[in-house]
Amino acid sequence: LEMFDTVGLTTIPEVTPGSMGRRIQAESLTGKWKAAAEFTPPKAAVGGRPQMPGEQDSPHVGAALSQDLIEPMLRSRASELGAELWLGAQALGFEKDQDGVTTRVRKADGVERQIRARYLIAADGNKSAIREGLGIGREGLGAFQVMRSVFFRADLTAWTRGNGQFEIEQPGLDAFLASYGDDRWALMFKDDIDRSDAQMAQSIEQAVGAPVEVEILSTARWELTALIADRFQDGRVFIAGDAAHTLPPTRGGYGANTGIADAFNLAWKLAAVLGGNSRPELLDSYDQERRPVALLRFRQTFARPDYARWATADIKATPILDGVAIELGELYRSSVILGADGDLPLAQRPADWQGQPGTRAPHRWVERGGERVSTLRYYGHDWVFVSANCGSVETARDFADRVPVELSVLNLNAELTQGDANAVADDLGIKGGGATLVRPDGIVAWRTTETPSAEALARAFSTVSCLV
Ligand SMILES: Cc1cc2nc3c(=O)[nH]c(=O)nc-3n(C[C@H](O)[C@H](O)[C@H](O)COP(=O)(O)OP(=O)(O)OC[C@H]3O[C@@H](n4cnc5c(N)ncnc54)[C@H](O)[C@@H]3O)c2cc1C
Repeated sequence: LEMFDTVGLTTIPEVTPGSMGRRIQAESLTGKWKAAAEFTPPKAAVGGRPQMPGEQDSPHVGAALSQDLIEPMLRSRASELGAELWLGAQALGFEKDQDGVTTRVRKADGVERQIRARYLIAADGNKSAIREGLGIGREGLGAFQVMRSVFFRADLTAWTRGNGQFEIEQPGLDAFLASYGDDRWALMFKDDIDRSDAQMAQSIEQAVGAPVEVEILSTARWELTALIADRFQDGRVFIAGDAAHTLPPTRGGYGANTGIADAFNLAWKLAAVLGGNSRPELLDSYDQERRPVALLRFRQTFARPDYARWATADIKATPILDGVAIELGELYRSSVILGADGDLPLAQRPADWQGQPGTRAPHRWVERGGERVSTLRYYGHDWVFVSANCGSVETARDFADRVPVELSVLNLNAELTQGDANAVADDLGIKGGGATLVRPDGIVAWRTTETPSAEALARAFSTVSCLV
């Protein structure tokens, strides 16, 4: 949701606090319920310290929205922002050369067209023909279980007590029951038995534990897979989303979320290079930053109880990290992040990072013109130089006037109340003369604890933005 905010997509309904990822273990909806199993076992998580009073890691709780609801929102906003959408078009093949990529596409009306572009993003899913065509291999556990599922409509509200996820275990039925947030549900069987519609309806009743009126919408056979591509880039072609990494469904949303964050990481970099402001080396950081995240999420998925039975001994030994750390506090190490070397952990809670370069500039509620806003409002568009020091701010303003890219200067003392300014400077680790540079994707790229000279700022900016 933080990422969607930055493109003006602010109407996505949020879940209620505390409901995210809760999964009830039950005999059936009307039968005996066991404890709600946490995705991240609270005691096992490294760094999973209790939240401090008033501390909030994000302005959002989260959303649990099915793809058929969110995709039209994304499409409509993309159109408003100028994207041309060819629905139902099929990419038939591509050729890349020194200057660009030519892709052959058959449009929905059957007409074939060629698209010439400087870069190509392959977001063509798990079975990505583009990834295969490039000969990019994958590592991981492969396809490890076949699942069968039935998607249906039924009113189950009388039995769910507001919960949306159930692990159903009883003799003859080992399945997962998940709500789509409305009257649609999926019952997913952990086996490969081909059931008739009547048998499916009977299993649904068994899962509910009472007679229920059901409309079967569709059935499916699919595989749980865990595979990470060996490379996320091949010259002018980038692979993103499930094409780059598939992970089994988790309560951490590591499937879609990981792909959305790929696009968020890549989009501003492509814009900077295509706009002529950054050298193409900036794009190399996409693989450097996103592949370790996919690998971390892979290991964290299988280190957790939900999937531990498929994990290798090596993965089982992985310390389980705090869930918020994985979602909001992963560390990027790349050629365009300054000061993220050494033995830093792969992920921590935002508050524990204190503005460490390579991590997301943290959220804090602040007062602006009588309104309570998140500090994230300042990030996610252009480069932002942040400081509470007059000398640093002067230097940055002079520099911003001279560079051809949008670099805004956030003077904490002038913009915020004294209390908020001090707190934000503390969050970023720049109290006193220090300053920090936040990238257009809200990641801290560089930080200094001293008032920077014009030369030091220019040098740092040139490295982190690959300035032409
Ligand atoms: C049962 C199930 C439950 C899941 N639950 C969750 C969940 O709760 N939370 C979560 O975060 N994730 C979940 N996931 C994972 C999530 O669905 C995927 O991570 C996500 O859809 C990946 O998005 P994507 O755009 O990369 O790929 P996809 O959604 O696979 O989209 C790829 C698209 O590319 C198109 N395409 C392929 N080849 C071509 C071509 N040659 N030309 C044109 N188009 C092409 C395909 O038709 C498809 O529309 C779940 C997955 C499954 C199977």
